[in-house]
Amino acid sequence: MLRIRPQRLIYGKLQLSAYIKATLTFLHHKTTLFTGNIGSCVSRKISVASTMADSKNQYNVVFVLGGPGAGKGTQCEKIQEKFGFEHLSAGELLRQERQAPNSQYGDEIETHLKNGSIVPVKITCSLLRREMDSSPKNNFLIDGFPRNKDNLDGWNLEMEGVAKVRAVLFFDCPDQVCVERCLNRGLTSGRTDDNEESLKKRIETYRNSTMPIIKHYRTLDLVAQVDGNRSTDEVFADVEKVFKNLAC
Ligand code: ADP
Ligand code: AMP
Repeated sequence: MLRIRPQRLIYGKLQLSAYIKATLTFLHHKTTLFTGNIGSCVSRKISVASTMADSKNQYNVVFVLGGPGAGKGTQCEKIQEKFGFEHLSAGELLRQERQAPNSQYGDEIETHLKNGSIVPVKITCSLLRREMDSSPKNNFLIDGFPRNKDNLDGWNLEMEGVAKVRAVLFFDCPDQVCVERCLNRGLTSGRTDDNEESLKKRIETYRNSTMPIIKHYRTLDLVAQVDGNRSTDEVFADVEKVFKNLAC
């Protein structure tokens, strides 16, 4: 599971909205040192980000995509352990934010999670950015993002010159296998969306909104496709090959 740092549990309404404001400030004034009232770590990273001149200073990012239950989280944990990348799960960050006391986005996030629909990018991207900016790591696995065009556009807008997408790891797995795995996971996960009704919508969202993103990255020759319908170890054997060949 995603590692939760104690300080991240206290983020609520004020911190996230201030963070979004800071991000917008950064976008509009890329060279201006931010001196707003958010945490010093975030403002420090933003000022560092604004001076990033070349790609060696950028965050290295591998996006991890696939249907619900395709094994993204499971494989990310193994990659994190073996290759030292930090695993950021968009879904997990949203679930944490939904539970954060006083989060202004809690209800909105909950509705999207239940419907299997996609949370607006300003929220998801800000949560990802906050994690990256406060991490000591430079290499990130971003699991479950970008899930649609809105995500992709929001990412490109915010992260240009800040993060470089090195690869898109795509776990291909039949719908029926994905559904069975999620229903199984739902027996113990306590997730409100691991049920038949939500899963239908999540698979539909994946087909209609996420597959075009994978196609987009194929045109950029960034997709590493792995057959996710095998044992965890067999899948990881292929994943390892991808990461051994990754230049970052
Ligand atoms: P995702 O992050 O893509 O939604 P998870 O990694 O959480 O998927 O996996 C969904 C469920 O399937 C979990 O209960 C997990 O233990 C199980 N699982 C993951 N990979 C495999 C696999 N290769 N074979 C069988 N079960 C798996
Ligand atoms: P996951 O944990 O990846 O299965 O995601 C669970 C749910 O979180 C999804 O069905 C969406 O409602 C939401 N979600 C996850 N990732 C994103 C994202 N990139 N953008 C918006 N919503 C997301």
